[in-house]
Amino acid sequence: MKRIAFPAAFVAALVLTALAAPLLDLPDPIRQDIANRLAGAMAGSPLGRDEFGRDVLARLIWGARASLGVAFASAALACLVGVTLGLIGGWMRGLGEILTLRLVDIVLCFPPILLALLVVTLLGPGAGTLILVLAVLYAPGFARLTYGEVLSVRATDYVEAVRALGASTPRILTRTVLPNIAGPILVQFSLAVAAAVVVESGLSFLGLGVVPPTPSWGLMIRGGRTTMAQAPLLLLWPCLALTLTILAMNLLCDALRDAVDPRARAGGGRRRIVDRVLPGLFPAPRPAAPGLSISHLSVEIDTPKGTIRPVDDVSLSVASGETLAVVGESGSGKTLTALATMGLLDPSVRVVAGQVLFEGRDLLTLDERDLRALRGKRIAMIFQDPMTALNPVMRVGDQIVEAIRAHSAAGARAATDRALELFRRVGIADPEKRLRVYPHEMSGGMRQRAMIAMALANNPVLLVADEPTTALDATVQAQILDLLADLRRDTGAALIFITHSLAVVAEIADQVVVMYAGQIVESGPVAAVFATPRHPYTAALLAASPDSNDPSAGIPGTVPALHALPPGCRFAPRCAHATDACATPPVLEVLEDGRESRCVRRREIFG
Ligand code: SF4
Repeated sequence: MKRIAFPAAFVAALVLTALAAPLLDLPDPIRQDIANRLAGAMAGSPLGRDEFGRDVLARLIWGARASLGVAFASAALACLVGVTLGLIGGWMRGLGEILTLRLVDIVLCFPPILLALLVVTLLGPGAGTLILVLAVLYAPGFARLTYGEVLSVRATDYVEAVRALGASTPRILTRTVLPNIAGPILVQFSLAVAAAVVVESGLSFLGLGVVPPTPSWGLMIRGGRTTMAQAPLLLLWPCLALTLTILAMNLLCDALRDAVDPRARAGGGRRRIVDRVLPGLFPAPRPAAPGLSISHLSVEIDTPKGTIRPVDDVSLSVASGETLAVVGESGSGKTLTALATMGLLDPSVRVVAGQVLFEGRDLLTLDERDLRALRGKRIAMIFQDPMTALNPVMRVGDQIVEAIRAHSAAGARAATDRALELFRRVGIADPEKRLRVYPHEMSGGMRQRAMIAMALANNPVLLVADEPTTALDATVQAQILDLLADLRRDTGAALIFITHSLAVVAEIADQVVVMYAGQIVESGPVAAVFATPRHPYTAALLAASPDSNDPSAGIPGTVPALHALPPGCRFAPRCAHATDACATPPVLEVLEDGRESRCVRRREIFG
């Protein structure tokens, strides 16, 4: 607060003094008194008189009205237009991106002075013209900055998380994206105000800005320059006012940037792990809810090396109260399968075939509005790293309250009570206090509990958890798995659990689907698959070191690039059992016991 106090007080005093100029007992700033031309300090004129005998102090204060008015108005207008264009371009991508960026580029092509001369010629000089010219000059800077910031923020997990909660685009932009990019925009605003004060002075100096005899700092510098040899102080006062104003604005916006970003205020978050899970606080089990069924889902992406299919003919289902684990190495397509289910695929990724049945509707045929109504309410998602999935500049409690209110008519009080109940339910100690902290002030385990609380906010019937324990240490991981298992049992929700850890699968899942290079290679009940695997990839995963975080540690080679897949079995280059027979692409066979396997040599290898 100390950092902000001085510049804020200076700017506030400056603005108030300028606004109060008509109320102050000052000499008329435009009344000439040739007899006292270039007079020094005198009674009633502590800063002396200018080349026309006008009072310098009165002109300085009245001049601040013109200079600061033009600077703030033009910077605010440029900020409004530029940030809007940047948000549209960065968020919409595609045609919106091209139109906004090209518009900005066209404006940037004009030399500033030429543009100013053109507008002044058309509209005539004056403060209004100056505001327009400066706003046009500075808007592209705001647009470019906002565009770049939106691009970096839109890919973060916390933006994906609010999309997953069903928030509308305007709400995401105003409540999540803008607060996270406010820092750089504020700095840009301070620079624009400072630059506008200077340019106003320059254009007024050239006779293109404020029209004499109206005082402005620019006109005062212009007048002071002509009499510099006889009265150098006439140049000093407006230059000093200009310099101090610019300095104060820069300091103020720097301090504001830190003030709006709690990460900048933090001196390193507390690293405390809360290990307590409060038992017995769960509500009575709800009636059985419908599950999810994915049929023949295929997803494609156009790349410079051709079209790839990272999800290829995937079918799976999960019933209410059941946990289905989807396991596989990075690049196996498990996360894309989940994102396609949620309708959260990037625009560059398209679903080319399949059906996702949930509560009698095919989610792939729903429009964005209907999907938003489902996400965060009937279906919820838990992300891998809650540090990036929670909005870093918003208190955790506010995020949960927002998630509750996005899908209900609950008032602020009721939503806060519900958030408290959820915090207790997921085992967060001292919930009243924890609701008021920012994500960086929580430990990793507590953040994940908060993320789970947010996912449970509207009693979803399907939970999709994308590697929710990968970023946690072993102790906290075990606690979170216990918590999820309890919640699933007590709420009756279906749980799809994406992971690369077989140990996690063994602990939490009823059914398992093993994916490799975009395809399912084996599926079935966890106990059966683990006891008697029916695919060499599953067997190799199980044989790998149980202590390893990398399930493929014991398997030679890597997952093939999707644009250069082997012609037959995709696992063949790494398979110890591969023969010429594997040159034919294997199909996913349903076995006698209902399990599935994609291996042409299954009978020979496993009997
Ligand atoms: S089809 Fe051949 S290469 Fe593929 S998993 Fe079976 S044995 Fe291995």
